[in-house]
Amino acid sequence: MQQATDLNLATSDQLFTRAKDLIPGGVNSPVRAFRAVGGHPVFMKSAQGAWLTDVDGNRYLDFINSWGPMILGHAPQIVLEAVQRALPDSLSFGAPTRREVEMAELICDMVPSVEKVRLVNSGTEATMSAIRVARGYTGRDKILKFEGCYHGHGDSFLISAGSGALTLGTPDSPGVTESVAKDTLTVPYNDLGAVEQAITANPNQIAAIILEPVVGNIGLVPPADGYLQGLRELCTKHGIVFIFDEVMTGFRLARGGAQELFGIQPDMTTLGKIIGGGMPVGAYGGRAEIMDQVAPAGKVYQAGTLSGNPIATAAGMAQLRYLNEHPEVYEQLERTSARLAEGTYEIAAELGLNYTVNRVGSMWSVFFTQQPVTDLASAKTSDLEAFGRYFRAMLNRGVYLAPSQFEALFVSTAVTDDLVDFYLSACRESMREAHGL
Ligand code: PMP
Repeated sequence: MQQATDLNLATSDQLFTRAKDLIPGGVNSPVRAFRAVGGHPVFMKSAQGAWLTDVDGNRYLDFINSWGPMILGHAPQIVLEAVQRALPDSLSFGAPTRREVEMAELICDMVPSVEKVRLVNSGTEATMSAIRVARGYTGRDKILKFEGCYHGHGDSFLISAGSGALTLGTPDSPGVTESVAKDTLTVPYNDLGAVEQAITANPNQIAAIILEPVVGNIGLVPPADGYLQGLRELCTKHGIVFIFDEVMTGFRLARGGAQELFGIQPDMTTLGKIIGGGMPVGAYGGRAEIMDQVAPAGKVYQAGTLSGNPIATAAGMAQLRYLNEHPEVYEQLERTSARLAEGTYEIAAELGLNYTVNRVGSMWSVFFTQQPVTDLASAKTSDLEAFGRYFRAMLNRGVYLAPSQFEALFVSTAVTDDLVDFYLSACRESMREAHGL
């Protein structure tokens, strides 16, 4: 077994010590903390293409990509140039701009189920707004979500939530009132019967069913065959607004997101970080009849001083236009991701570990369990201690993975064949080190 030397993280450690006195837990979003894997978070300084550089000068091959949006890798020239062109025209107006119209046209063109769209500033805002609209449209109060799906930190969604809420073991957050919680129904993912039962038990009360069409927040879990179609039919039959949360899958799994990949038309779609190309943006959209409920066209109120921010919109549009005009990106991502995921599976199998690897397009996970992972309960059978040791072994070898078993990995077009080889050799050594083999 080859043991990698520990990195010099002195500056990161100093910053973390300062941060802990001033910022809760030392981080501005819980998933950045290394709580689940031990040690301190690494503070980043810059990134280019597939590589991150930290404040101590260590370099890492990046498989987080800002949790999804950096599809073209870090600092792509076309995005930087678009931002530079937009900068001299001012950073914000609080009045409409041409770019917002062009962004709306682009989104509606690329995601056919979206006929009208409203820009917001984060994925959380997008999902919070979407369920308000669904409630206003249907006149019903309850929503149904799935165990382990994460839809941002809106009160209604912090019930059986995935991602950081799951990693830190606080899926039901203090501060969410009982009256809010009672309007959120939760059932296991990939279990159509459970959804039918919930609908029967709450007749004409469910405004919306919201889900990640491919779950990324308990690790990567694909929908079972026919599952999305079954949900679509139940929603149509019972007058329920069907919402795809494509904050991570939109424009990543295909030009038109998971809905294009699986051929399903939701009524509403939420989008996030990807349409900002790394800048803070979100959006929600859907059928015109539903979106016309939103103020000032309709009575459902939703607003934002910085919504449609000119710089964020310029960055996002540059990336979206590139994806729109270069379908070969998706073939490249598929090829690279298949090599990464299959290679990882084979390494674990050769070592007798037989771990489960799930992948859809450029999102994937290796679960430290031998069971198929189809929902939250099966994801939780993973050996979290071994995962933590593996994470640290990979970090020491210059590979930056998500610091939790319950997160997906994201591949960018900057990952070349040589970098896949680099990853696979680090993976082999790290799997051995993590398991004492
Ligand atoms: N929905 C999904 C599916 C997400 O994965 C996330 C965050 N990763 C959100 C919503 C919330 O987005 P944000 O962090 O931008 O508020």
